[in-house]
Amino acid sequence: MSTKKFLLEENEIPTSWYNIQADMINKPLPILNPGTKEQLKAEDLYPIFAEALCQQELNQTDPWIEIPERVRDLYKIYRPTPLVRAYELEKALDTPAHIYFKNEGVSPAGSHKLNSAIAQAYYCKEQGVTNITTETGAGQWGSALSFAAKVFGLELAVYMVKVSYEQKPYRRMMMQTYGAQVIASPSMSTKAGRKILTENPNYPGSLGCAISEAIELAISTPNCKYTLGSVLNHVSLHQTIIGLEAEKQMEKAGEYPDIVIGCFGGGSNFSGISFPFLRHNLLHGTKTRMIAAEPSSCPKLTRGQFRYDFGDEAGYTPLLPMYTLGHNFAPANIHAGGLRYHGAGTIISQLKKDNLIEAVDIKQLDSFEAGVLFSRTEGIIPAPESCHAIAAAINEAKQAKIEGTQKTILFNLSGNGFIDLPSYDKYLSGDLQNYALTDADIQKNLDALDK
Ligand SMILES: *Cc1c(COP(=O)(O)O)cnc(C)c1O
Repeated sequence: MSTKKFLLEENEIPTSWYNIQADMINKPLPILNPGTKEQLKAEDLYPIFAEALCQQELNQTDPWIEIPERVRDLYKIYRPTPLVRAYELEKALDTPAHIYFKNEGVSPAGSHKLNSAIAQAYYCKEQGVTNITTETGAGQWGSALSFAAKVFGLELAVYMVKVSYEQKPYRRMMMQTYGAQVIASPSMSTKAGRKILTENPNYPGSLGCAISEAIELAISTPNCKYTLGSVLNHVSLHQTIIGLEAEKQMEKAGEYPDIVIGCFGGGSNFSGISFPFLRHNLLHGTKTRMIAAEPSSCPKLTRGQFRYDFGDEAGYTPLLPMYTLGHNFAPANIHAGGLRYHGAGTIISQLKKDNLIEAVDIKQLDSFEAGVLFSRTEGIIPAPESCHAIAAAINEAKQAKIEGTQKTILFNLSGNGFIDLPSYDKYLSGDLQNYALTDADIQKNLDALDK
C-alpha cells in the first residue's frame, strides 16, 4: 500500500513567511499616487492599513519575515494542511504523471483566505485598532476575516455587494454566525452609499461601490482600518505558508515538483503555493514551471496589458503596475466569483513580464468538468475557483501521457465547494455556458483607460 497523505507536526509549521521581493532581480515597479504621480511610501498607506502591513507591502530587502507567535498558534487550528497524492485521479487519467495537491479547503472558513485574515487581524490588534472593515463579493474573504476578527476581539463591518447579499445568503450567514456586521452595499451608512442610493434606489451594488464604502468608513472612524484579501503584496506574503509547508511535505514524499499550479484571481493562493518553489528557480537554478490558471472570461495574465491602472473598479486606490484588462472591465458572471478580478498583483505582474511564471486560461465548462472528475475520484468537492487549477493540472497530466514522461505536478486546492453546490447543480443540469471574449472587446476596454 502506498502513502497518500504527507503530514507535518504542528511544530513543523514554518516560523517565517517568504518575501520573494527580496530575491527578485527586477523588483516590482513603484506604486504611484494618482494625483501627483509620486512614488508612494509606507507612511502614505498608514491611514488605510495597519502599519506593519504597509511596511510588509513595500519591503524589498528581507527575504524572511517572522510569523508572530500568536499567529502560528492560531494557524494550528487547521495547519499544517495535508499534502495528498491524487492516486485515484492519476488512475482515471491513466497518466504517468504524479499529481499532488495541497488541501487548503480544510480551513474552517473553507479556503486559504484565513492564512492572511489571521495575520491582518493580528497586526491591527497589535497597533491598538478596535474596528476593521472590508468588502466582499462572493463572501470568501468576508467569512475568513469574520472569524479572525472575532478571535482578536475586533469589531468587523463587511460591505457585501447587495445582489450577493440577497442571492447568496450562506456566506452572509457564516459571517453573522462568526459575529461580524454584514451590510448590504450600497448602504445609508456612508456618504458614497447615500449618494448612490438617493440617485438610484434600486442599484444592485458592485465591488467598486462596496470598496469605497469600506474605505470611507475606515478613514472616517477613529481606530478603524481597512483590509483586503488578495492582490496586495502583504497578502501574498502571508499565503507563502502554503508553499513552505508543501516544500517540506514534498520532501517527505521523496519528490520535487516539475510543475506548480494555482488558480488565479488577484494572485494570493497562486503566490502562496508557487513562491517558495520559485525561490529555488531564482537562487539555485531549478527549472520548475509555475502555472497560473485564470478563467477565459477574465484573462488578465494571458491577454491583458502590462501598465499602470487602478486596483478597484471605482478608481480610489493608488496606481499599480500590473497586467490588467482595465479597472472598468466587467467580467462575465461566472460561478468562480473569486477569479472575477480585472488585474494581477504587482509582484506577479513583474514575474510574468520577466517570463519567470506562465499563465493558462480555462473555460468555465472545462473547469467544472475537472471539478466533477476530481470529486468522483478524490472525493473532495472543490470550490469553483480551485477547479481552474485542477483543470490545468489535468491538462499537464494528459500532456505527460502523450509525451510518455513522468512529471511531478503539484497544485493548490484553494478551497472546498460546499457553499457553492448550487453552481454544481447548474452545471449538472446543463445550465452553464462558456463566455467568449474577442480581442476587440479587450482592446476597447484598454483604450478607454487612456482617455
Ligand atoms: C478568493 C479565492 C480565490 C482567488 O483569490 P486569489 O487571491 O487569486 O487566490 C481562489 N480560490 C478560492 C477558494 C478563493 O476563496
